[in-house]
Amino acid sequence: MNHDIHIIGGGLAGSEAAWQLAQAGWQVRLSEMRGGGDMTPAHQTDGLAELVCSNSFRSDDSDKNAVGLLHDEMRRLDSLIMRAGKIARVPAGSAMAVDRDVFSAEVQRALDEHPRVNVIRERVDTLPAIGPTIIATGPLTAQSLAQDIVKTTGQDRLAFFDAIAPIVHRETIDMDICWIQSRWNKRTEASNEDGDYINCPMTKEQYLAFHQGLMDGEKTEFREWERDTPYFDGCMPIEVMAARGVDTLRFGPMKPVGLDNPRDATPEFPQGRWPHAVVQLRQDNKLGTLWNMVGFQTKLKYGAQIELFRTIPGLQNAEFARLGGLHRNTFLNSPIVLDRELRLKNASHIRFAGQVTGCEGYVESAAIGLMAGLMAVSELSGRRWKAPPRTCAFGALLAHITGDAEAETFQPMNVNFGLFPPLLKVKKKQRKEAYTSRAKADLGKWLSERELVPA
Ligand SMILES: Cc1cc2nc3c(=O)[nH]c(=O)nc-3n(C[C@H](O)[C@H](O)[C@H](O)COP(=O)(O)OP(=O)(O)OC[C@H]3O[C@@H](n4cnc5c(N)ncnc54)[C@H](O)[C@@H]3O)c2cc1C
Repeated sequence: MNHDIHIIGGGLAGSEAAWQLAQAGWQVRLSEMRGGGDMTPAHQTDGLAELVCSNSFRSDDSDKNAVGLLHDEMRRLDSLIMRAGKIARVPAGSAMAVDRDVFSAEVQRALDEHPRVNVIRERVDTLPAIGPTIIATGPLTAQSLAQDIVKTTGQDRLAFFDAIAPIVHRETIDMDICWIQSRWNKRTEASNEDGDYINCPMTKEQYLAFHQGLMDGEKTEFREWERDTPYFDGCMPIEVMAARGVDTLRFGPMKPVGLDNPRDATPEFPQGRWPHAVVQLRQDNKLGTLWNMVGFQTKLKYGAQIELFRTIPGLQNAEFARLGGLHRNTFLNSPIVLDRELRLKNASHIRFAGQVTGCEGYVESAAIGLMAGLMAVSELSGRRWKAPPRTCAFGALLAHITGDAEAETFQPMNVNFGLFPPLLKVKKKQRKEAYTSRAKADLGKWLSERELVPA
């Protein structure tokens, strides 16, 4: 069968992209290596869109939750993943959980039966030299293809592990305790006027208790196949560093030198004193709504992270946009290598989709697959792509991946309200509903205008 587009990877993103393209009338070749003699370390079956771990798509509440909103937006765009999810759904309160076998079988059936989709069980080892292509090979992309991606994008543009430091919503940081300053007040052209870091001060007692908390906190084990995870310089888990000695962190990420706490100002030290230790947060997105805890990548369990990190002065009420982690995960430095339409800047016939673009999670991966599919539909039809508004979940996630995130610290990201243009004038209690109602209205407008975009 001749095809109009080649999609590589039949996971959540690749299956969704194939569906969108086929439904729009284009012939798709979908290459999936499982079932053709290859397997990833996490998958168990040959089924398309296999869920490798939990069976949950998280909250289905589209009024108060960003991922629930993304479900709603996907449904409005006739998502295959949401269709299959409806058929496979099992009771899970306000969450959307599925029977994983029924779910995968439904996706498989829809694509197998589709007259315009040809599923081929084959591993692809190089980026196709010509022809519209979508790469959706996921966090466990086969090594040969990963190496070819590195050849095309350049060394250091494809990561094989994530080392995620927790990310905090800026509005939940107590600025009566913290202060903004760069170490030694050093500045660059990109610097903010006051400084680039939010600093949380610690006394000796607070630091020692925190150090003990890191040592005692419950940690997540590496999976069998992740055990050879190397600790790269600069992304060692904070608790591993802490185990090297009680003061190691004070000479590393918690170094207080050059940071004058203005709350400790005295006539003798009018600018303030250096605290015993400091936790620093650095801006993580252009909107300035998300800040990451510098050097705090960790294998502590999520509950232990929340409990311990809220003992840090100034973070007692912190809400986390995401918690720390360290996993095997193949992903691009998308803000650098991809354009706003998910295409490689130096090979524009290749588009990426799914977790390999640096989103995180089943729903987000499928959503970016859906967007990549629609972008390809526009391109094949000779129409100009009009991006979804940044005020909706699709638009916020896309904008983050393709340019709004800081490239230097880019790590995989779940959808969350911190990615949305802020609505600070709305009272905090009503803010979630304000985000979702604005998103729903703006997506509706985008949908109604989409067909009108001229060639
Ligand atoms: C171990 C693990 C556990 C996870 N648990 C969760 C969780 O519980 N909840 C959650 O929301 N997210 C989880 N994720 C994150 C992520 O959401 C999922 O990995 C998700 O499946 C990503 O979707 P995807 O379509 O991008 O990739 P995948 O679903 O992994 O699909 C990629 C497909 O490409 C195929 N492929 C790879 N290389 C090639 C090649 N060269 N040629 C042809 N085919 C190829 C693979 O076989 C696979 O089918 C987990 C990730 C991992 C690694």
